[in-house]
Amino acid sequence: MSVEESAKHVAVIGGGILGVSTAVHLLRKGATVTLLTETHLASEATGRSLSWLNSAGERSRPYHDLRMAGVDRYRTLYASDPTREWLQFSGGLQWAEPGHETDTLSRHSYETAHAYDSHLHTPETVTAVAPAVDRKAVPSQAIFNPGEGWVSLPDLVDFLMEEFDALGGELVLNAGKVTVVVEDGDATGVTAADGRNYAADAVLVACGAATPDVVAPLGVTIGNASPISMLVITKPFDHGLKAVMNTPRAAVRPNPGNTLALDHDWYEADITEHDDGTFSIPDDIVQELANEAAKLLDGTPDVKPASWKIGRKPIPGDGEPVFGQLKKVPGCFVAFTHSGATLGLVAGELMAGEILTGNPHPMLETFRPERFS
Ligand SMILES: Cc1cc2nc3c(=O)[nH]c(=O)nc-3n(C[C@H](O)[C@H](O)[C@H](O)COP(=O)(O)OP(=O)(O)OC[C@H]3O[C@@H](n4cnc5c(N)ncnc54)[C@H](O)[C@@H]3O)c2cc1C
Repeated sequence: MSVEESAKHVAVIGGGILGVSTAVHLLRKGATVTLLTETHLASEATGRSLSWLNSAGERSRPYHDLRMAGVDRYRTLYASDPTREWLQFSGGLQWAEPGHETDTLSRHSYETAHAYDSHLHTPETVTAVAPAVDRKAVPSQAIFNPGEGWVSLPDLVDFLMEEFDALGGELVLNAGKVTVVVEDGDATGVTAADGRNYAADAVLVACGAATPDVVAPLGVTIGNASPISMLVITKPFDHGLKAVMNTPRAAVRPNPGNTLALDHDWYEADITEHDDGTFSIPDDIVQELANEAAKLLDGTPDVKPASWKIGRKPIPGDGEPVFGQLKKVPGCFVAFTHSGATLGLVAGELMAGEILTGNPHPMLETFRPERFS
């Protein structure tokens, strides 16, 4: 039997954006889908992501191409309703640390060399493209990338799950740590933590930073470099910011409800991981990040953190995405990547195609899991 004939019922492990997007694309193609997740949807990285949609800076060409396809799919979704508060294309603003203006210039040269839309700005010109930014915070050179956007992933997950329900997908919440069932070398389904088995013709492991742990019992090694990260959501205020900002002390993006989403990495050492797997950070560090964000905004508003979430940011060992079927365990596929916000829609589309047809997609060829073995 061909993979196409056999892969009719797919079990997807992981209720983050990659699992949800792939599940919906599978349903659109006529598959039967069971989506199982440990607790609730968007419980991990998807629920605490900066989710800046971009392919800025330097990376391998295949990764850049895939990210551009990722941005393209979001533009299509955006065009279907530009009024959605949770998906906007208002550009991205970026600059380097003081004294490193040459880094900004070389990044701009690199971006323009492959036609990534990239414009240099000075403090005098920046607010024409990025309203509400404090000119005084901007160094002599900054880059504005007008083609970039942002998404609120929890809202996108809700949006996709409406289609999931309408197409008859089965959702299993609080499934605990789900494992892949292998019989005679092939993946034949999954087992939830309560012991219940779900038979399937194919399985997708889309467990974010936990993906390498889920496939390890199958004898498959996937490198894991997922760091600890934090996303802060501010209290609502009239900020007027439209662009995503990536600056040396704070990354800032607009968020639904007149709030901002903030992240960075300078406070990583202040995060404590507890024995029960939870994380904490001193409140004053969170406020310091909010203060750094305030310094970027016109009038230095009083930015107050409302909530913050800490956990692992999924990053494969070599920084490149991991997509595809495990050669060692036919019928078992993995989707594990950094920039899973940017890739969320296109990765779900391409993975669903590979799972149902068995035809490897050329855009995913360099990202196979076997490179770690
Ligand atoms: C702070 C931060 C900033 C980021 N910024 C950006 C950005 O600017 N641009 C961008 O493109 N991307 C960004 N990302 C990355 C992006 O958010 C992630 O790549 C993406 O959300 C990952 O989605 P996922 O579905 O792979 O994993 P996750 O969202 O982590 O979901 C995995 C799910 O699987 C479940 N699970 C795990 N193990 C099991 C198991 N054994 N059984 C059942 N369920 C299981 C988990 O509970 C979880 O719900 C950022 C991430 C973070 C954390």
